[in-house]
Amino acid sequence: MTDHKSRRDRLLQEHVHDPYKTRMKLAEPTLCPECGALYRHGRWQWPTVPVPEEAHRETCQACRRIADQCPAGSLVLEGEYVAAHKDELIALTRHQQELESGEHPLHRIMAITEEPTGGLTITTTDIHLPRRIGEAIERAHRGALSFHYEPEEYFIRVGWKR
Ligand SMILES: [Zn+2]
Repeated sequence: MTDHKSRRDRLLQEHVHDPYKTRMKLAEPTLCPECGALYRHGRWQWPTVPVPEEAHRETCQACRRIADQCPAGSLVLEGEYVAAHKDELIALTRHQQELESGEHPLHRIMAITEEPTGGLTITTTDIHLPRRIGEAIERAHRGALSFHYEPEEYFIRVGWKR
């Protein structure tokens, strides 16, 4: 199990380039006019002090993905259990997203879609959130989790079935 987990970590830590991430170094501070995240000290964060008037403005990659409807990850929940526990699973998903986005403003849920089969598909702006949510669901609801990461596409597919 530990082995499994470290392999997953390595997969995600491999140096890959998010095509939505600007190759130019952003000026500091830069404000995203869409979501209000602030690029400062080399990373996007939620501003803790008033944003200076002279801050540069550039839409962050999460907001650009949302505008393009181009997610970086998906989590697909399948199985009969899902329809019977939909509300719980959605609440857990939202809770994990709040925890993650508090620290990483660019890690967000794009959509939660109820499939005709009774399953749920969750899409995200980043490659980390599907795994975080999937692991939280596995901890709370057991079931079987699977991962498929495609570095060339910068896309992670996480599946959970019960
Ligand atoms: Zn933004």
